[in-house]
Amino acid sequence: MTNAPVKTRFAPSPSGLLHLGNLRTALFNALLARSADGKLLLRIEDTDVERSDDRFVEALQADLQWLGLAWQEGPGVEAHSGPYRQSQRDAIYQSLFQRLLGEGHAYHCFCTDEELKRARERQRAAGKPPRYAGTCAGIPAKEAQARVDDGAAATLRFRVPAGRTVVFDDLVRGEQRFASDDLGDFVIRRADGSASFLFCNAVDDSAMQVSHVLRGEDHLTNTPRQCLVLDTIGLPRPRWGHLPMILGEDGAPLSKRNGSRSVQELRESGIVPAALLNYLARLGHSDADNSLRDLPGLAATFRLEQIGRAPARFDHGQLLHWQELALRALEPAALQQWMAAAAGDLLPQEQQAAFAELVAPNVHLHADVRRWANACFAAELDHSEVATTTFREAGSAFFAAAADAADQDWAALTALVQQASGARGKGLFLPLRLALTGEPHGPELAPLHAMMGPERARARFDQAAGLALAEH
Ligand code: GLU
Repeated sequence: MTNAPVKTRFAPSPSGLLHLGNLRTALFNALLARSADGKLLLRIEDTDVERSDDRFVEALQADLQWLGLAWQEGPGVEAHSGPYRQSQRDAIYQSLFQRLLGEGHAYHCFCTDEELKRARERQRAAGKPPRYAGTCAGIPAKEAQARVDDGAAATLRFRVPAGRTVVFDDLVRGEQRFASDDLGDFVIRRADGSASFLFCNAVDDSAMQVSHVLRGEDHLTNTPRQCLVLDTIGLPRPRWGHLPMILGEDGAPLSKRNGSRSVQELRESGIVPAALLNYLARLGHSDADNSLRDLPGLAATFRLEQIGRAPARFDHGQLLHWQELALRALEPAALQQWMAAAAGDLLPQEQQAAFAELVAPNVHLHADVRRWANACFAAELDHSEVATTTFREAGSAFFAAAADAADQDWAALTALVQQASGARGKGLFLPLRLALTGEPHGPELAPLHAMMGPERARARFDQAAGLALAEH
């Protein structure tokens, strides 16, 4: 890396919630910036008015803040390169359009969507890649301007120079070469007057002195066009690195259908920031250090050379592995808070600390916490067929003895039940466990019983005794 200050950026379009894919892009940019003592910039790409929504602008900032992915320039952290919403930067784009038009690097295009579609179909049928045929490229500028002045709808196209090779050195994939003749003149201003993504994205990276851009591979074919735009205007290019895509567990591109969740959904399910960050930092980036780390720790081992070129595969099991480590690393008070967020309504206030400590090894997500909160504190359990059969086999006298001893400590209770029933080992503990929690496995029974208290335990044993006697 050169000595120039490193500035990376995350530039989401606020047309939806943040998902795993764009979150990983944000994280890699944050890690790259941190690893080089640089800055992360946040820019909101909202020129597409139809698809952008302020609700998503707020949601994505809230998600980044929740994860601790702070930006050093961007909304709320103004610096000289702002504003950071493209909808507020239109004057910059419009003056560049006028310049490009005046210099002949751009021209008005009057082709309708229907005409463009038919042209693409003809090209495809002839086995050629679909690209703009140059229909309006030859209209004299004066004539085109007169048509626009008369109210004709027109986009603005960038005039791609013929016979050039566009070369750039991708931070992940190495040297990339594109023939300009394959690109086709592309739209830089939509018919409604707004700047197209390709244009303002490139102009802003340069105007905001972004030095390094990590983004999804789906943008790779935009890059030569963006190089041409910047070179023509005379603006410096940033360096781009294109990240291989993320595949779902079924090998298809990650989408809602095969496991992609929005950050909000993951948060609501109970995933904690450290789990998500540690997981994503390894998704398509190899890191020899398998320990759970905070952002500075993750940045310390982040290397562009360690970014894989093959698609990365999302693995829910791995995410849960990091969740397990992250939960284990929480302070008791934070763990208790996390559990209360999941099941505060089910947990008696005075038992929250004991509950958190006891069930911690048995939970990954909020749904698990709710399941255990129910198992420990619900008035009655909804027993499975397997549990009911076990109760029948143990017999009602077994549970009557347990109910009688419910106010004893666990050692005394089990001794009394053993004496009364002759049961031992698994034959003793499995029916007791199932009666108390409805689950065949789970936290240690002695502290569990102590936490539940004699009344609840007695009620549970009575319920099991009743089921042991019930008709099939
Ligand atoms: N707004 C674009 C997107 O969300 C940004 C692409 C880029 O990072 O350059 O896909």
